[in-house]
Amino acid sequence: MDNLLQKEIQRLKTILNNVPAGIEVYDRMGNILQINQKGLEIFGVEDSQIVIGVNILDNPNLPNIVLSNISTLFSLPDKYKKEFANEHFKNSFSVEYSFERVKSKNYFPSKFTNKNIFLSSKIECYFNEKGDFENLIFIFLDESERYQKQLEIKKFELMFDNMSTLAKIGIMEENLTDGTFVANEQWFENFGVSKDIDQRIDDIYKNLVKQDKQWLKSNYLRIPYASKPLKIVKERQLNVIVDGKNRWIKCIWTIFEDEFGDTIILGSSIDVTEFVDATLKAKESEQLKTKFLKNITHEIHTPLNAIIGFSQLLVDSNDIEEKIEYRKIISENNEILLNLFNNILEYSKMEAGIMSLKIELFDICALAHDIFDVYNSQNIKRLECNFKYEGQEVYIFSDKRKIKDIITNLLNNAFKFTNEGFVELSVDDIGENVRIGVKDSGIGIGEPKQKQIFERFYKLNDFAQGSGLGLSIAYKLVKLIGGELKINSELGKGSEFYFTLPKKRDTI
Ligand code: ADP
Repeated sequence: MDNLLQKEIQRLKTILNNVPAGIEVYDRMGNILQINQKGLEIFGVEDSQIVIGVNILDNPNLPNIVLSNISTLFSLPDKYKKEFANEHFKNSFSVEYSFERVKSKNYFPSKFTNKNIFLSSKIECYFNEKGDFENLIFIFLDESERYQKQLEIKKFELMFDNMSTLAKIGIMEENLTDGTFVANEQWFENFGVSKDIDQRIDDIYKNLVKQDKQWLKSNYLRIPYASKPLKIVKERQLNVIVDGKNRWIKCIWTIFEDEFGDTIILGSSIDVTEFVDATLKAKESEQLKTKFLKNITHEIHTPLNAIIGFSQLLVDSNDIEEKIEYRKIISENNEILLNLFNNILEYSKMEAGIMSLKIELFDICALAHDIFDVYNSQNIKRLECNFKYEGQEVYIFSDKRKIKDIITNLLNNAFKFTNEGFVELSVDDIGENVRIGVKDSGIGIGEPKQKQIFERFYKLNDFAQGSGLGLSIAYKLVKLIGGELKINSELGKGSEFYFTLPKKRDTI
């Protein structure tokens, strides 16, 4: 061999041993002839002599399809080999390489015993100048680290997706330099738009209230003029209106320059509507409580002052008629005070959850009749008092005491808020249930306030006598005995409060 050729071979060998890929050269029957340094490193082999002679068809890690293609190539007549190789070995493929399999199949002795690596591989076929198949070359890169990283990124992405869906966190990234915008679904969801929307600022943020829209736009406009190096963090709770409902979306944006000098906005958004609503409700409830305390002091003082004052007058007076009048006033105020304390006690018991049911069989018509009779006899405003029922007994299994409290509460209100016309108590037998209604031709309640009146401490008129607990107690009591207290009312015309109860005990 002349000197030049020797040198050339030496040069190629050096290159082969220094490329960062593993390279194996096999003969036309699949026996290994040569392996480079990187290949030895990847397979944990000290010396190439150890693997010389190993046959590629015995490789326990190559995919079956690759092995079967190699085997076909070897068995084909020479003239078909090139075409077959061009067609079947043109693509690279991945191999999960298990050293445990290498060991158990006695493929070759490796210093690795139970690790797995990931190879990105390619098979090349060498045909000599006459066109005959001479060598099969297996080229492989150890991609374990990259594969592992990819796997971790995938896992992280999945976890992040789950987390952002659960916590309703939207994420966006916008490259202001090249105009690209990417965001997860939740980002669009938070702003109440479809993810297929045209990704312009006007479209994505179209549901923002005017003020927030302007704020966002002017902040976007200011970015190019911000001082360098760019590092802006913006935070704001945005008000979004979707289908007429308010949403509160808390956002944080970080604006910076990436390593290529592009201006990037990274944003995250979270739907905090429930939290804002709960805070508002708690605040409202706190305000109501304060109002209640003020109100209750007044509610106690008024009848108490009347009782003290008129008791004194009663003692001092000698006039019989005056004495009768004073006694009446004292007794009325006693009643008001007692009613107030009863309500507060009842409500506290309910709040503490120490309310139990006492179920008995009784005639609801008789009970309603007895309650109504008392009101009828004390009818100072001379209202028309109607008791409507079908004339027969209606026996139910329920808590008599609680039903009495509910009807009393409703009748108290009906008489309190009606100055002329009528108050009507009705009992209707409707199969398995009984319907009880208290109707009046009083001041009535407008539609928007009808829901709120069942809330504790709520009063439409702060100057009206009462603690604002009556209806809230009645509502809870009705629920406790298996019904629901409802209202039909028209402002200025009158109201009807009604509820339906099961007659049988087991349905409660
Ligand atoms: P209170 O215990 O102070 O009577 P309620 O909870 O029973 O309070 O009632 C709350 C508010 O609902 C009342 O202050 C009143 O404004 C309104 N309301 C209740 N019943 C009637 C009714 N029959 N007609 C008109 N308004 C009513």
